[in-house]
Amino acid sequence: MKRFFCLFVLVCALLCGCSGETAPVQQTIFCMDTVMDLQVWGKDAEEGIAQIGAALKDLERTWSAVSEDSLLCRLNRGDPVSLSEEESALLQRIEGLSEQTGGAFNPKLRALSECWGFYNENHRVPSPSEITAALLESQWDLGGALKGYAGQECAVLLSQLDVDRAMLVLGGNVQTYGEKPDGAPWQIGIQNPDGSGNLGILSVSGTMSIVTSGDYQRYFEVDGVKYHHILDPENGYPADSGLCSVTIICRDGLTADCLSTALFVMGLEKATEFWRSSDDFEAVFVTTGGAIYATEGASLSGCQYEVISR
Ligand code: ADP
Ligand code: MG
Repeated sequence: MKRFFCLFVLVCALLCGCSGETAPVQQTIFCMDTVMDLQVWGKDAEEGIAQIGAALKDLERTWSAVSEDSLLCRLNRGDPVSLSEEESALLQRIEGLSEQTGGAFNPKLRALSECWGFYNENHRVPSPSEITAALLESQWDLGGALKGYAGQECAVLLSQLDVDRAMLVLGGNVQTYGEKPDGAPWQIGIQNPDGSGNLGILSVSGTMSIVTSGDYQRYFEVDGVKYHHILDPENGYPADSGLCSVTIICRDGLTADCLSTALFVMGLEKATEFWRSSDDFEAVFVTTGGAIYATEGASLSGCQYEVISR
């Protein structure tokens, strides 16, 4: 019996040694209007999870477009506010990305999103004059950028701790941190827009942001017409660009998030041109007809797709 027990312990030790895997510290929270699943590996994993959770809540409190005492709402009301260096740098970077995308990413569409009822789930189709009026307003809404920025900030926090690696799923955004022990890439599933599991798997190495914007995440239907939450700043209606999902893979989380929204608005042709004129991201596009396209640096498997080359 004793010999059997020793053998059992030895086998367990060998198995653990072979995989090099330890269990992560894991936590699920609800923040920024979405479910977030946090997994952290390493000596300071508990501390890492605690710091990440606090940082995410902090960013939500500061940049909430709905809670009246947030910095963002005070800014939008024209209240006197003083921004920290970090806060004004974030807004400046977002404005820069907006310019870079020719306004396809517009961080000041709060009034427009509100008139479509996307803030209070009071969905309705606004009249053309309401849309025109809302487009003239210029109020901040960081809904298309904040989760990407937050993921990246979490990675920075983890880099200051004794943490081996982490996988942070912040709604449709994934932030990886560090390498797997066997050097294998992270495997990230891209959700199928029709809701049937994964469309394909992306392999990425090291610390990376993988952000998807889709028309299937937040939408409502009236008379058989679907109205989703990614709005075209040119006409004020849900972007009808022929795309139903855009995934961006980028070292910079804020860029990844802004571009996932912007390239969705642009549509495949303009988005391809935009990618060709950039060198800091890769992308996967899914058209409303179900065709999949991936830029040549994206490592996508598990589906048929056309490669977009430079
Ligand atoms: P998710 O909300 O699922 O993270 P996105 O990153 O694409 O998806 O962001 C969509 C959100 O961004 C909307 O809910 C709205 O708050 C805001 N938004 C909508 N259209 C635009 C746009 N053209 N540019 C910038 N932000 C937008
Ligand atoms: Mg986005």
